[in-house]
Amino acid sequence: MAKVESFTLDHTKVKAPYVRLIAEEVGQNEDIISNFDLRLVQPNENAIPTAGLHTIEHLLAGLLRDQLTGVIDCSPFGCRTGFHLITWGEHSTVEVAQALKNALSEIATNITWEDIQGTDIYSCGNYRDHSLFSAKEWAKKILEEGISSDPFVRKVI
Ligand code: ZN
Repeated sequence: MAKVESFTLDHTKVKAPYVRLIAEEVGQNEDIISNFDLRLVQPNENAIPTAGLHTIEHLLAGLLRDQLTGVIDCSPFGCRTGFHLITWGEHSTVEVAQALKNALSEIATNITWEDIQGTDIYSCGNYRDHSLFSAKEWAKKILEEGISSDPFVRKVI
């Protein structure tokens, strides 16, 4: 089976919350696609419950696109400790961490239920499984800990 970089990372060595560049892939037309690890909570110590994670996902989809060029996708890890962010082009981890920080600040303070896209039966695959309360509580916790631009050494932005 193909070796996947994400599974070679020693998850006991990282210090969340952080942003990590997993890989930059170059396509046949020289386009660059970047893949980031947005780790919100410490692996094997914490995991964001699905309803809160689901609401954070719907909000990051818009809030990260507002700040970063070339966002293709931002999807949660199955382990519920963070997200993959896929973008066209190159971005520094500082730039991505700053965008993530701004997005979480927005979630923690200003976002109301009416702001969330895709919360009905037509636009979401599990529309009953959302919690803005949980999303806000987890966003506050992550912001209090600070987001590092390095996965192994705390470089809080
Ligand atoms: Zn959904």
